[in-house]
Formats: sequence, C-alpha cells, structure tokens
Amino acid sequence: MAITGIKGFNDILPNEVEKWQHIENTARRVFGLYGFSEIRIPILEKTELFARSIGDATDIVEKEMYSFTDKGDNRVTMRPEGTAGVIRSFIEHKLHAQDQVAKLYYMGPMFRYERPQKGRYRQFHQIGAELTGVTDPMADAQVLTMLCHFFAELGLTEPSLQINSLGCPECRPAYRQKLKDFLRSRLDSLCDDCRRRYETNPLRALDCKSTGCKEATADAPSVLDSLCAGCAEHFVKTQQYLKETGTAYEINPRMVRGLDYYTRTTFELVTGLLGAQSAVAAGGRYDSLIEELGGPALPGIGFAMGVERVVLLLAEQEFRKRPDIFIAALGEPARKEAYRLMCELQRLDVSVEMDYEGKSLKSQMRRADKFRSRFTLIIGEDELGRGNAVLKNMDEGVQEEIPIGAQEIAGRVKYPAR
Ligand code: ATP
Ligand code: MG
Repeated sequence: MAITGIKGFNDILPNEVEKWQHIENTARRVFGLYGFSEIRIPILEKTELFARSIGDATDIVEKEMYSFTDKGDNRVTMRPEGTAGVIRSFIEHKLHAQDQVAKLYYMGPMFRYERPQKGRYRQFHQIGAELTGVTDPMADAQVLTMLCHFFAELGLTEPSLQINSLGCPECRPAYRQKLKDFLRSRLDSLCDDCRRRYETNPLRALDCKSTGCKEATADAPSVLDSLCAGCAEHFVKTQQYLKETGTAYEINPRMVRGLDYYTRTTFELVTGLLGAQSAVAAGGRYDSLIEELGGPALPGIGFAMGVERVVLLLAEQEFRKRPDIFIAALGEPARKEAYRLMCELQRLDVSVEMDYEGKSLKSQMRRADKFRSRFTLIIGEDELGRGNAVLKNMDEGVQEEIPIGAQEIAGRVKYPAR
C-alpha cells in the first residue's frame, strides 16, 4: 500500500504554486514599499515561548499545539503563529539597539492541531508583519493601510476590514468584570470550554464559534464603552488616520481575537466567501508583549494572513495577474508606435499587454477589461499627430493626455498620482 500524506498537511502542486508565488511576490513588493524587511525564524521554538506570549487559557495553547519532548529532553513546539518567534528574535539579537522602530515581515508554515476543513488545516501558511517601537496610532494606521494595499494589489476587494479596541491593562480589568457579571446568569448556555475559562479568560466567549456562546453573548456589553481616556483617544486617532487615506473599515466591538497578548487596536479582514473560515488576516497591537518576553518596554503591532485562505479567495474571485498597462492603438502608425512602446516598457519592468491582431477600438477595450489592466494607454491618430497618447488610470477612473515616452509612462504607472 502506498504511503499517503498526513491529514491536514497539504501538498501544493505546480498549477497551484503560481498563485502562492504571486501572493508572496506581491507581499514582498508591497511590504517593501512601507520599509519592511524579511526575517526568517525557526519552525521549532521552546514551548514556554508560546505559553507565555499567546496565553495559557487560549485554544492554541490548550489544545492546538504540536508540542513534544526532543531527544535531549527539551519541551519544544512547532510554531502555531509567527509573532512570538519574531519578538523572541528581536529581543535576542537586540534589534532595538539599532532602531527601536523595527519593521519586519515573515512567511512560512505554521502548525495547529485543528479539525481539517476548507480553509482550516494542520499545517497552514502565514504571511505576517510586525512594527515595533511606536505608540502613536499612525503605526496602527500604517500597518492596516499596508494590509489593505496588499489585498487591493491582488485585486481582492471583498474582504472587509473590521477594527476594535481591547483597551489596556488599565481599563481591561473593569471590562472583564462587566463581562463576567453579564455572563454569570448565562453560564449554562456556554460551551464547556468557555464555561471552564469563565474565571481565567471570560473574553474568549466572545470569540467562540459555538452557537450557544454566540447566542449567549449577542447582547454582551461592548468593550468600547469601558475604554480609558488614553485608549479611547488612541482608537479615535487610528480611525482619523485611516479616513485620511481612504482606508475603509467597520467597527466590530465583539472582536477579541484568540491570543491574549493584544492591547488596544485589534483587527480582522473578513470575507463572506469562506463559510466559518471568515478571517483572512488578523492582528493587533501588543504593547506589553516585548517586555513580557524579557525585552525592553516597547510597544508593537502586527498581523498575519492565512495564505491558504487568500488562495481560496483568489479562486472564488477568479485569479488573473493584472498587467500594469494595456495599450490600445488606432490605425497602422499607432500600432507600430504601440508595439515599440510595449517592448520598451517591458524592459523598464512594466507589465504590458496589447491586442496583437489590431481589432476595433471597442474590441481592444474589451480585452483591456478582461485583463483588468491597472492603466490603459490609448494611442489614437489625432493624439499621435501631437506625439501624445491618453493614459487612463482604470482604478481611479481619471485620464490625461501625455507625451509618448517610455520613461515618462513607466514613472506614472509605477507611482500613480493620487
Ligand atoms: P480562526 O478564527 O479562523 O481560527 P484565528 O483567530 O485562530 O483564526 P490567527 O491566530 O489570528 O487566527 O491567525 C491569523 C490568520 O491565519 C487567520 O486569520 C487565518 O486566515 C489563518 N489561520 C489560522 N488558523 C488556520 C488554520 N488552521 N488553517 C488555515 N489558516 C489558518
Ligand atoms: Mg483558530
């Protein structure tokens, strides 16, 4: 009998792998624009690292970790998430001594012993980012905007951003108490786990996927009503920064996240297309974690996305690489000009498509639509006479007549004016 793979551990086959590469390349490119550098950390860490950071009374630590004792009698765990390891490394190598504002991203496999189903596996992959050393809500907005920028670059507009604030060690205890008072009379409706964790971690009930817990907590008090002045201001300012650059969001006061280290801002990118596996990316601020892991008292914020879920979304929304520009040309001289320009642009690192058959403008534009190019350049006879063409930004719906020149066009396509 042939040996099969392990349940919940997937192969990624050649056809599929292109999507993965596209996602990874897009992350590297977009995160690079925001000054993030890659960090590569080990898969195996001391079990203690996760217990201390993620929290003892969480699903991950209580029942999802792949932990074992190695041949040297050390308790080790295959990482269930990336933040703990990144922060461990940040502290161990004193990255804060160079600059306390570190901007790091990582990608790779994570391991959780969960019930495998669509969008939920035992080995899955995350791409995540962490920004340390900034208390100002500009950091929160920057990280969120980068995440949304990444999804926009993939052509995925469906997952929507939800944000919340979990308060800080000053104001969270009061909320915890309020929630406990509220849950006390409803304990019978909670699932076994949430009832057991009522004393140690009552917030978990808000994050629980069981129907009983969902119903019992439907009208639970909102954490947002318990924020101290500092946390309330932080939340307002984060939103102001988001609005400043048109990053769309909704407030979800029930979102508590499955890890204990979060403070203040938490967020999720949520989709309606993957059933119960609705979170495509998630994260938050962790202002005490670095110190708790033995480092300096520096704040941090970060997120992780589930790559398998992004791949599934690309399938739902029909994945196609978006060329930077589609060139449409009217008439033979314009076609020649278009061809020359296309080759020149491709050498300048701009991806270009055109209609090789020279059909009507209407059919060329249909092709541009099909490719969903970011820009269209239309070279008509009149414009060509002036040495010009019309460049249209398809996302913004604005167009202008510009001189035909590969450098000029490459610049506009790579750095579109807002
Ligand atoms: P969920 O609520 O779906 O269990 P989570 O809150 O446990 O997610 P995080 O720990 O915040 O997830 O991890 C960030 C992202 O990693 C999730 O939003 C999701 O996209 C992905 N992810 C988490 N667990 C799995 C898994 N077992 N299989 C595939 N992707 C996962
Ligand atoms: Mg989970």
